[in-house]
Amino acid sequence: MKLEVRIERTRAPKAHPPESDLGFGRHFTDHMLLVDFHDGRGWSDARVVPYGPLSLDPAAAVLHYGQAMFEGAKAIRGDDGAVRLFRLERHCQRMASGAPRLCMPPPDPEMLAHAITELVKVEEAWVPRARNTALYIRPTLVATEPFLGVRPANQYLLYVILSPVGSYYGGDTLKPVRIWVETQQTRAAKGGLGAVKAGANYASSLQAAMRAKKEGYDQVLWLDGAKHEMLEEVGTMNLFLVLGDELVTPALGDTILSGVTRDCILTLARARGIKVTERPLSLAEIVAAHDSGKLKEVFGSGTAAVVSPVSELVTADRRMIVGDGVGPIGQSFYDELTAIQRGAKRDEHGWLTAL
Ligand SMILES: *Cc1c(COP(=O)(O)O)cnc(C)c1O
Repeated sequence: MKLEVRIERTRAPKAHPPESDLGFGRHFTDHMLLVDFHDGRGWSDARVVPYGPLSLDPAAAVLHYGQAMFEGAKAIRGDDGAVRLFRLERHCQRMASGAPRLCMPPPDPEMLAHAITELVKVEEAWVPRARNTALYIRPTLVATEPFLGVRPANQYLLYVILSPVGSYYGGDTLKPVRIWVETQQTRAAKGGLGAVKAGANYASSLQAAMRAKKEGYDQVLWLDGAKHEMLEEVGTMNLFLVLGDELVTPALGDTILSGVTRDCILTLARARGIKVTERPLSLAEIVAAHDSGKLKEVFGSGTAAVVSPVSELVTADRRMIVGDGVGPIGQSFYDELTAIQRGAKRDEHGWLTAL
């Protein structure tokens, strides 16, 4: 399914911010992509238009009952100057497979990837050049029908905005984070929305993250919602541990988001011949592994940071120091994945697409 994308160019292009001071999600490009959905009519009117405020009826369902989800992908300028999209199709597939959980219409992944590619082509000059910068792609799907009855809306807006983002760490040197193990609140419960990139999951995670920050931690480690015994995710990232010579990540389920970066790391690890396991992991096992010296590394994975090493895991009664902060395995995945992204290492898995 291909939708013709109409392009209306801005007459007031913005000045580009300096690449040394991009930060994350602070600057937006000149254009955005909009696609409408109406029950019965399906998807229509894909258009690239000047970036600006949306006009929404105050009764729009998303503002009341939270039918909203998003994606996060990247376009990267390689060492050769060419812009490539990183696993965009997979991000679009994830949006399509998540939408039904919120009773939203799944966009055709190919249609969406095509329309996003058209948008990025228009904004090619906005893809920054400095090492480890990128153009962050943020597709968002929201219910727009003005109706206060509680049922799935019959009108939706799919829109995509782009943000030039800086190097997460300000360079190639990873900065480790200190993590509070959260045992009161939960990010996602069995049968809930945890496997979907729903805005609601982020809303439910904010208070614990804020409290942890107040206590001097960078983020929280999320445990299962039923008994707070099993490890799930770290902040808004998937979780990896190195236990002895084994790379372990919690097995996917309906409380864990199936990260694209997680999948990349599993693929690269298997290609290297590392022992890789996806299985349930309990906090008790991690504490025992720490005490016996088996807990070598802990890191998070996600599109924005790629890899985020954890130097400390702290519970109400334990302070666990993990390795030397930035472990060699986490660093090596960061190096390998970012090298593939900028075209410096062969793309053996077909993750890049040229504009
Ligand atoms: C987006 C996200 C991730 C990481 O997914 P990537 O596809 O690797 O960016 C992990 N956990 C949660 C909760 C997320 O929302």
